[in-house]
Amino acid sequence: MPRCGQRAGRPVRRHWIARDALRQVWRAEDEAPGAWRGSAMAGTLFGAIGGSDWRATRTWVYGESGRDLGAAATGRRPGRTGRRGAMKRLARLCAALFAIALPAWLAGCAGTVTTPTTTTTTTTTEGGLPIETGYASRAQDSRVQFVILHYTAGSLATSLMVLTEREVSAHYLVSDEDPPRIYRLVPEGRRAWHSGASGWKGHRLLNAGSIGIEIVHPGYVTAPDGQRIDPPFPDAQIDAVIELVRDIVARHGIRAEHVLGHGEVSPSYKEDPGPAFPWPRLAERGLVPPLPDPARVAARRALYESALPDLAWFQRKLAEHGYPIDGEAVLDRPQQRALLGRVLTNFQMRYRPARFDGLPDAESAAILWVLTTPEPRP
Ligand SMILES: [Zn+2]
Repeated sequence: MPRCGQRAGRPVRRHWIARDALRQVWRAEDEAPGAWRGSAMAGTLFGAIGGSDWRATRTWVYGESGRDLGAAATGRRPGRTGRRGAMKRLARLCAALFAIALPAWLAGCAGTVTTPTTTTTTTTTEGGLPIETGYASRAQDSRVQFVILHYTAGSLATSLMVLTEREVSAHYLVSDEDPPRIYRLVPEGRRAWHSGASGWKGHRLLNAGSIGIEIVHPGYVTAPDGQRIDPPFPDAQIDAVIELVRDIVARHGIRAEHVLGHGEVSPSYKEDPGPAFPWPRLAERGLVPPLPDPARVAARRALYESALPDLAWFQRKLAEHGYPIDGEAVLDRPQQRALLGRVLTNFQMRYRPARFDGLPDAESAAILWVLTTPEPRP
């Protein structure tokens, strides 16, 4: 199959259907010059394989000598002569071609094709340029691929000020009012600046393809005795977040694996929405993947209690799960070890929030193993 962007000649050579179809087209042309030009299907065929370069296909079909080598090799009887016979054969073959091969050609990279069903409609861009909008490609999806959740580490008033007047922003802000309100600060079609240096599973700089949701929350506070306290999120506020995420992922077709926390995609310098964020509630609604199976975690944990995997294993598995860390990086550099600790902290905040010291342990290893090892099929 020709790949997206390739034209007539080399890419088409590989396809016997195309060769057969072109042979018929050229026979039709030889028998009744100009015949194929009257056929919309033949025109489409030539257009699909290279437009004006269609003459190059004659050499491919007939060889350098110009004789119909294909007909000689297959020992075919000469076909009916004349324009009518040629057109009939051509139509038959083109129809077969359409059924088998052309959809994939026309679809290029996407692999599917649709026949336009509407006529052209003229409108104008916002800049006044006339454009036709009557045809719509089937091969398309939303530019939004991720939802990134944050906390603001500040009051509603401070959050609104920072997110509207400073060089940071989010599409939505979910307040801690009673009842909570959802503020839209950036239209979804535009890029908000909420996850600068970020990555997930090879995706980088996620601002361009994500919706950012800020949640008004104080972050963590330090008690007089020096203890860190992560205040819970009010239920009503989480209800609002869940409804907002549900609405966004449904409209944009976002996968559950792509609903993430800021700390997960920017672990080197962030950890919001923090260990108090109730990810299991989103899992209950199917907005994020199900929690790791406790039975599998327990079984694996027993194994790791006696032999804890080394740091390189953790690094590799965290990268495999999606975290933006080089899974094969050499760990003798302090910087890389620090990054691994930050990634592990964020991993624990989400999957084992009771302790998030960033240190490797058997339970973290077991959860990570379950997340990266699909359950064997029965
Ligand atoms: Zn954030």
